[in-house]
Amino acid sequence: MPKRDKYADNKRLADRIERTGRPVDAPCDYCRHRSKLCIMSTNARSKKCSTCARRGHKCGHQFTTDQEWDNLGRDEVKAACDLAEAQHSFIQYAQSIQEVIARIVRLQKHQQFLRERGGRMLEHDIAVLERLEEEDPLSTEDVRELERLADEHDAAQIAALPGNNPALIPMTMNSPSFWAGFDLNMGGAIDPSSGSLSTSSHSR
Ligand SMILES: [Zn+2]
Ligand SMILES: [Zn+2]
Repeated sequence: MPKRDKYADNKRLADRIERTGRPVDAPCDYCRHRSKLCIMSTNARSKKCSTCARRGHKCGHQFTTDQEWDNLGRDEVKAACDLAEAQHSFIQYAQSIQEVIARIVRLQKHQQFLRERGGRMLEHDIAVLERLEEEDPLSTEDVRELERLADEHDAAQIAALPGNNPALIPMTMNSPSFWAGFDLNMGGAIDPSSGSLSTSSHSR
């Protein structure tokens, strides 16, 4: 009786499993730890993967440990909290920007109102002045004094430097349409009156 080659048995089995089987979604412990493709036969009742068959290992599946599940759960909670916190920061930031934009729009409207009122007052006073000058023309002495005062004014204007230089603000920012174009509303998601965002589990 010829001596049985048990090594050949391992090889034959493994080759057969490899040929007829397919990789399984949940690899055995040996394959999982070594990141190997775990190939099992689809029709054999005894489940042993090709790798374990070739190497003569026991082919086993162990449940994920409680520790691994606990770690996952802890990581999931932390990730959810961190995300909620970042989203809250974003909402607060966007709300404060919206408030600034609303203030800018209000101030631009007020500025426009003052500009128009100033124009009407100027028109009125120029008309009055012209009427007075017609009724009572300026004397040579008056004209000389006005010239002197105007020169004084021009000199003072050259000396004065503007404190808050409006030229530093980009021209586009002075256009009301620039601000009207801002849409941070995100479909009403940051409407402070809705309160729908304060229901997050991660409130402090
Ligand atoms: Zn395996
Ligand atoms: Zn195995």
